[in-house]
Amino acid sequence: MKNNNPATACAVCMETITNPICVGCLENQIREWLSYRAPQLMSIFGKGMYFGGASEGTRCIKCKQTMNVCTYCFAKDVMELLSAHDPDLLDEYLSMFDFGLKEAMV
Ligand SMILES: [Zn+2]
Ligand SMILES: [Zn+2]
Repeated sequence: MKNNNPATACAVCMETITNPICVGCLENQIREWLSYRAPQLMSIFGKGMYFGGASEGTRCIKCKQTMNVCTYCFAKDVMELLSAHDPDLLDEYLSMFDFGLKEAMV
């Protein structure tokens, strides 16, 4: 469903954000995973990939920051990053962080 209200829609895909966990919180989770699985990828990951802290928007259920990119768009970018740098990690990534990507790819 397209959402015309920018305050509650993802800035990338314009879908309503239904699972509000901000990229900051997701990044922390993924960094933790990368730090023991593929520390060499830490440096290329998450360098200002996303803008956080919008003045208004859906609030992250974890840290209460406003957010404007949905978990799906974020996860998809991480997936592309991984497949470009270390495709072997993709399966593990998808099984650890299921953001609806698996269903989307079927
Ligand atoms: Zn999105
Ligand atoms: Zn958060």
